[in-house]
Parts: sequence; structure tokens; C-alpha cells
Amino acid sequence: MGETGSTEKDADRRIGRRALLIGGTAAAVGTAVLARDELARLWWRAPGVEKPREEGVVDSAGAQWVAASDANWRRADRPADYPIDMVVIHVTQGSFASAVKAFEDPGHGAAAHYIVGKDGHVTQMIRELDVAYHAGNRAYNERSVGIEHEGFVDRPQDFTDRMYAASARLTAGICARYDIPVDREHIIGHVEVPGTDHTDPGKHWDWGRYMKLVRQARTALA
Ligand SMILES: [Zn+2]
Repeated sequence: MGETGSTEKDADRRIGRRALLIGGTAAAVGTAVLARDELARLWWRAPGVEKPREEGVVDSAGAQWVAASDANWRRADRPADYPIDMVVIHVTQGSFASAVKAFEDPGHGAAAHYIVGKDGHVTQMIRELDVAYHAGNRAYNERSVGIEHEGFVDRPQDFTDRMYAASARLTAGICARYDIPVDREHIIGHVEVPGTDHTDPGKHWDWGRYMKLVRQARTALA
């Protein structure tokens, strides 16, 4: 019994110290559980403190990690600092390998979080925590996850069954993680980003089919 009591006291002391670290914000919160939630969200805001990250970790199960050059994205701590409420669909205008190479190139100046291949392969190159330069619009970059699709906008045969299925699963997972509604206001094409001169994913991208697949995948996750 005494041991349980002292463990609890130790836990309280730990929370107390960490609350001090962030300026006492958590001290005002009523219960230890709430305090812990607050701390999980806020402790990294202390000067010099960053949320720990592990190299190679992916946000979408089954994705393969290949790091983009850090010149093509900005470090952030989404959704704590920027809420995520959008997925932006792109087409690479090139092969899968050429997209990976471009995103690894510090001179490219742009990259998306994910690339989906014609064979359904998914590579993640930027963490969803971070802001990828993919939409050509700062506010949209900050609020969205960008997904590239291998192929060309004028080649409908590039958009394979496997690609649609893999991309829909990926988007459904993103919608589940951040509670994003599965509709065309929140899942948009690059062409729909304000101020863009890009046309992707183009007229051959089958939105009706894609959204149906995303809805099915999202329902399966619920
Ligand atoms: Zn694009």
C-alpha cells in the first residue's frame, strides 16, 4: 500500500516539475490526467525542447521511408501548431523514381509527403508533422498533407486500379488521424489551390471513383 502511495506522489512531483518547465500552464488544470494531456501537447514549446522523432518512422502503415532533402520542407509539430484539415492530390509528370530524386534534391524547392506508384507502392518522404512545400501556397501547405501520384496528367492509363486503391487507403488514414471530413472540400486537387498555375491531377483523374474508394476505406477504419 505504501508503495502505491509513494509512486503516486512521485508521479505528481514529476508533473509538477514539468508544469514548471512550461511556465505552469498545467498547474491550473484540474486532474492529473488532463494535466498529462496538456503536457503531451505543450511541453515541447519550452525553449530548446522538441518533440522526439525517430529516423525512418512513417505515419502510414506499409509506406516505405525515403527522406526528402530538408530544403524542401519546414519543420513543424502538426497538428499542435497547424491543424491539418486537407489532403492535396498531385500527379508527378514523371516516373516514381524521378519524383523521389527530385524530392531528395535540395535545389528542387518542393516535395510532397507521399508518392504513390502505379503498382500501388507508397513512399513517405516527409513526416505529417512537418510542412511540405507541395501546394505552392503557404497556408495550404501548412494545413494539408500532399500526395503525389506517378504518371502524367494526359495519360489516363497511368492511373491504375492499384494506384487508386493504395492512394485511397492512404488518404482515408490521414482523414482518420486528423478527423478530416471525406469530401471534395477537404480532399482537393493541386489545381484547386488558390493562386496555383498547376493543372494536376488533370481531367483523367476519376474523382467519383477515388472519393468512393476513400469513403469505403475510411468506413473500414472506423
Ligand atoms: Zn501538383
